[in-house]
Amino acid sequence: MNPQAIYYFDNNATTRVAPEVVEAMIPYLRDLWGNPSSVYGFGKQLAKPLEAAREKVAALINAEPREIIFTSGGTESINSAIHSALATQPQKRHILTTAVEHSATIKFCAHLTKMGFEVTLLPVESDGSLDIPLLEKSIRPDTAIVSVMWANNETGVLFPIEEIAAICRGKKVLFHTDAVQAPGKLKIDVADLGVDLLSLSAHKLHGPKGVGLLYVKRGVKYQAHVIGGGQEQGRRGGTENVASIVGFGLAGELAMAHLRDETALIRALRDKMENGILKSVPGAVLNGARDARLPNTSNISFEGIEAEGILLLLDELGICASSGSACTSGSLDPSHVLLAMGCSTARARGSVRFSLGIYNTEADVDFLLKHLPPIIAKLRGHSHSGKKSQSKTVTA
Ligand SMILES: *Cc1c(COP(=O)(O)O)cnc(C)c1O
Repeated sequence: MNPQAIYYFDNNATTRVAPEVVEAMIPYLRDLWGNPSSVYGFGKQLAKPLEAAREKVAALINAEPREIIFTSGGTESINSAIHSALATQPQKRHILTTAVEHSATIKFCAHLTKMGFEVTLLPVESDGSLDIPLLEKSIRPDTAIVSVMWANNETGVLFPIEEIAAICRGKKVLFHTDAVQAPGKLKIDVADLGVDLLSLSAHKLHGPKGVGLLYVKRGVKYQAHVIGGGQEQGRRGGTENVASIVGFGLAGELAMAHLRDETALIRALRDKMENGILKSVPGAVLNGARDARLPNTSNISFEGIEAEGILLLLDELGICASSGSACTSGSLDPSHVLLAMGCSTARARGSVRFSLGIYNTEADVDFLLKHLPPIIAKLRGHSHSGKKSQSKTVTA
């Protein structure tokens, strides 16, 4: 397979595995394929790289290695955090979260509702921000856990995790944050944040897919969600995904080492892209707070047209972007995040997320800025060449 050149603006959906990470993983796929739980040396030797990776990802979030549970990714970590809070506090049956969480939280909570638990989804303001006094008031004596994402994957909007963690501490309620969008973009320090539980996923930080972690603060009771062998000190059954865990460790190390310089570069590129789009495309508006936002994300609505048409025409040029979250694109549902922010269905349907990463270049942004305005004009029925096209919408 020889893929055409791509212009990748979908780093919040997944990221390219760093070439160094691929290299580091290969020996564990090709030669060192033993089971780390074995009694013989060929398998047992893998405990060392496994623990080295644990130290690296622990360092990424300033945790202790024993506070890290390796999982199959962000979704499993989030499900497990909420599950554990309920299982270890059977008298508490209420979960407090927000209306703009990733589906790993929202849909798991919907499932829990069917199982008889109570869930409160906090609303957000029109800029995507949370009403913190309302959050505080919504914590009940039977609240088992508060789960609030750090950075929104669709808009990039940041929530004040430190402040929310302090409120939860004051009320003696467990606090989990979905920090999947944070690494490589924000400095993560679980001690400063004051969280009890935190979820990460390797493939959002140039690691492989299918591996992640759940941080469980020392002293916080934990009940396994995935039950089987005694791996991860009995906290997550299943033979360790050694190659991916090694890749995750290196990806974490790289993310930490390059955080400062890379963030500045990505922010500069993002701002150039965003300002360029907002200036050159009439009826383009930014969704979400401008300042309290990830440095790599722009969510922009294009008045009068649907994102699907835009994405299809961009795709013809090799430009990858998305509408809403990857899990819901492909369906016609407008983004639950934008609807929660009070956007009209039309505005939500006309929104495109552009998310940059360390491999984006000035040339990528220039290519997008050259091709996007005529695409929008074409979809609106007035092509740049002056010819009127027949229809306002494009069908797939
Ligand atoms: C991608 C993502 C997840 C899910 O992680 P997976 O590893 O794909 O399961 C959860 N939360 C947020 C904010 C994400 O961006």
